Amino acid sequence: MSVKPQYQVSAIPAFTDNYLWLIHDDQHAAVVDPGDAAPVLAALQANNLKLDAILLTHHHADHVGGVQILLQKFDVPVYGPANEKIAGITNKLRQADQVELKAPHIQFSVIDVPGHTAGHIAYYAAEQDWLFCGDTLFAGGCGRLFEGTAAQMTASLAKLSALPDSTLVYCAHEYTLSNLRFALAAEPENSALQERFSAEEEKRAHGIATVPSLLGLEKSTNPFLRNQESRIIDQLIAQGRLHTRDPIEAFAALREWKNTFR
Ligand code: ZN
Ligand code: FE
Repeated sequence: MSVKPQYQVSAIPAFTDNYLWLIHDDQHAAVVDPGDAAPVLAALQANNLKLDAILLTHHHADHVGGVQILLQKFDVPVYGPANEKIAGITNKLRQADQVELKAPHIQFSVIDVPGHTAGHIAYYAAEQDWLFCGDTLFAGGCGRLFEGTAAQMTASLAKLSALPDSTLVYCAHEYTLSNLRFALAAEPENSALQERFSAEEEKRAHGIATVPSLLGLEKSTNPFLRNQESRIIDQLIAQGRLHTRDPIEAFAALREWKNTFR
């Protein structure tokens, strides 16, 4: 009888609000978006793990800053977006590419999700129900549009929200409470959102991470996945932030409002 190996995903907190994700069994690890090497090395050492792979979602320093130091200690493949310039990448990935890690043995499909940056990719492990989406989809929110358009980002988010509701969303930042405060302003009558806000507030009060979140919960509470909802569109129009009922325009209006929301 074969026993299915147990894989874990551990959060490595870094900087003020980043999560670097360590995927591991009891011996081998892969790290997603190591913006800083020191906490990754500490986590590897503390758990007696050998680094076998690095996975990158996009080129921002808080996601790739630790790559060179890790490569000095571990000669490992570096997976990353084909359409971004990142030093050290050995395997350039685009939409529908498959990544098969040997140890821990996990298969990812690559999803192109331009918007936050032009070449941003996400990694989806169907068997484990894991999505590593960098700064594209956040718990309760989404990444800023630094290099892409609202049309690109809505298309990217639509690809992610087409995944099963049971998908665990491993995003790269703990922005959840501020995202949900904004979500409540955009859709005050959403009872699932009200419940989520209390639950996540409770977690943060006890220092517990709100990430990963469930994609199903994102679909019912995250305004950036709900830009087609008439209550949200009505609210944007009532505030003078939107003058059509076009979902891409609605998304753009939400994103702009969030940029200055306090
Ligand atoms: Zn970023
Ligand atoms: Fe980031």
